[in-house]
Amino acid sequence: MSDELERSFQVLKQTIPLLIKHHISAIPTNYALWYTYASNQSEQLNQQLDRLVADDQPISPARAKELYRLHLADDQEVDAWQLRQSLEAMLVDLSQSLKDTRDDTQSFKQAIDSRLSDLDKVEREGWSVEEVMELVRSLVRETQHIRTSTLDFSAALVTAEKEIAELRAQLKASQQDALYDALTGLHNRRYLEDEFRVMQADKGTCLIMVDIDHFKSINDEYGHQMGDRVLKSVAKKLQDSCRDNAMAFRFGGEEFAVLMQGSQLGQAIHKADVMRRTIEKMTVSDRRTGKILKGITASFGVAEFKNGMRQSDLLEQADKQLYQAKTLGRNRVMPIKA
Ligand code: GH3
Ligand code: MG
Ligand code: MG
Repeated sequence: MSDELERSFQVLKQTIPLLIKHHISAIPTNYALWYTYASNQSEQLNQQLDRLVADDQPISPARAKELYRLHLADDQEVDAWQLRQSLEAMLVDLSQSLKDTRDDTQSFKQAIDSRLSDLDKVEREGWSVEEVMELVRSLVRETQHIRTSTLDFSAALVTAEKEIAELRAQLKASQQDALYDALTGLHNRRYLEDEFRVMQADKGTCLIMVDIDHFKSINDEYGHQMGDRVLKSVAKKLQDSCRDNAMAFRFGGEEFAVLMQGSQLGQAIHKADVMRRTIEKMTVSDRRTGKILKGITASFGVAEFKNGMRQSDLLEQADKQLYQAKTLGRNRVMPIKA
């Protein structure tokens, strides 16, 4: 392993546990931030992060971005995404090279073993017993030494390989956290933003924003746990009504989003109304009291992505329609027609 690779691997080994310890998702910005922290490159950054952690302050995505901007992305914009990609590639390389080395030591051991069995040839060439015995003794000594050290080395490599596999699994899990909502299992807002980045206007994309009506009073009346169950049920209904061309997201709190590809505004409005009726018919039972909760409703705002629009415009437009739906009395889809 080259020194540089070895060094970055050591830093990497510290980075992932840091993310996990502080419950920070491994999105590129955080990754770059904590990688820099572990590598001790910026004293100022380390002090600031230490202070935040000591004060038990949450390191919000906005704060992480700010720190990132201040300490990392100065002269040259660091492509954090690429950084993570290359770190991942490095892990793959590293585990491959460890595997190769282990195979090498395995064949080295076999070579030594066969050399031992070849010793009888020496005898055939007419060496005295004394000479042969001396050779055997020294060979055995050397071989045993080499064998012990290669076996130790193999064991160390096996451990290292395991560690890498664990690190990769942890990295994957924290990436998973960064893209999925833990309560409902839907994709989260960050995932939606990633989707926005790759969507194409000519394919016909619509965004449906969904907001549960008077959700606060459900929480107030039946408790937060029941509120969570309602969120899960609504999420499931939305998810179930999404086929190949639609994807449901938990946008945050009691708000959801559905992204539809290859659909015109009219089709999206229709889809939203189907979802609205499904939610309206939904029942959620309260495990504690056995009471059945009915009459949950949601309001919907629909917008179509047009050429020249920014993602924020699409969101804003769908939000505006959602607001209309709320002010007109809730449990409805806006606009009424395309
Ligand atoms: P409106 O019809 O105007 O949308 O009213 P609302 O009560 O649904 O809206 P409001 O924004 O006033 O309240 C949303 C509530 O959602 C407040 C917040 O406590 C609750 N909430 C947000 N996230 C969660 C969650 O994960 N679980 C639970 N149980 N409640 C949540
Ligand atoms: Mg809301
Ligand atoms: Mg609401």
